[in-house]
Amino acid sequence: MPGSENPKPISKYSELRQDIVSGDWVVIATGRARRPNDFIVAAKAGKNKDDKDCPFEKLEDSALLIITRGNEHFADLWQAGAKAKDWFIEVIPNKFPAFTPRQLCPSVAVEGVYRQIGGVGFHEVIVMRPHDRSIALMSVEEVTLLVTAYRERFKTLKPEQCVQYVSVIHNHGPESGASIVHPHSQLIAIPVIPPDVFKSLAGSLRYFTERQACVHCAMIEYEARTKLRVIFENEKFIAFAPYASRAAFEIRIFPKSHRADFENIPEEDLKPFAQALQRTLAVLYHGLKNPSYNFFIHTAPTDGGRYAHYHWHLEILPKTSIWGGFEFGTGIEISTIAPEDAAAFLRSVKLPPLRQREP
Ligand SMILES: [Zn+2]
Ligand SMILES: [Zn+2]
Repeated sequence: MPGSENPKPISKYSELRQDIVSGDWVVIATGRARRPNDFIVAAKAGKNKDDKDCPFEKLEDSALLIITRGNEHFADLWQAGAKAKDWFIEVIPNKFPAFTPRQLCPSVAVEGVYRQIGGVGFHEVIVMRPHDRSIALMSVEEVTLLVTAYRERFKTLKPEQCVQYVSVIHNHGPESGASIVHPHSQLIAIPVIPPDVFKSLAGSLRYFTERQACVHCAMIEYEARTKLRVIFENEKFIAFAPYASRAAFEIRIFPKSHRADFENIPEEDLKPFAQALQRTLAVLYHGLKNPSYNFFIHTAPTDGGRYAHYHWHLEILPKTSIWGGFEFGTGIEISTIAPEDAAAFLRSVKLPPLRQREP
């Protein structure tokens, strides 16, 4: 390809580059480098500890969704009017997006032997009202509003033409990568299927092809029956430590009935889902003295493919260890506690009653 050997000028947009050996995608997002100091400070102490310096205390003009404590939904500040003062959830575009909307979907560009596509997509922040109360300390009703916001924004972004996958993530604590202390989740809609999701889909499909059954349903049935690694369950959801946990105290939360798409969670399941999430994070908080963690949802892609074999779930990875040379060199993670023991410990944690606090 003529000219393709020339280095490209630096773009203000991000780009996705593919590793031609592994097939994995990485994002090169130079626009986010405008805040290098944010990262350094955040990694050490957590930024904006004081709510006076916090960027998430007030509603933004750019709000895309506002949910009040009474579960009323508004598309912007103007629509919310006087009810805006009762806000509990606000969704805004990320000011330092890793992915940005553009007129056209990205096409593959080639540089020598390599491939890349533009970082087209959406990057939103889902802000919860309380500055210093993490999900573990919220009520189930409050967490229900949060997962309702996940579902609403997911449904809004899913039909966007360039979007192949919508990722819901939450970082908590200084070791998690959270650059701002105030509780917030992120929703990132991207034009490729991410490598970890791709692997999870492929493994589920392989099991389904061999046995005509869902691998996740098989795990759920076994874990619910043996109770060896179960941490919490209600009528609709189950949380357990995976048999092959990648990190100490890893937890996955599954809907008990088979469902590929998170965004199709029925209205009546939102509260049981929120309860499973809140209770699980609460036992981590009280049992391990507020560890840093990441959680994310794995669900079927939105690229129009057939994923009926998949079973959506939420994965919680406490930051209980730091990757060293063995982990990076082999991809094999070392967990220093047996999942059975981790689950037994978390089951034994006594939760104090939730204090009612405003906001
Ligand atoms: Zn705040
Ligand atoms: Zn299933």
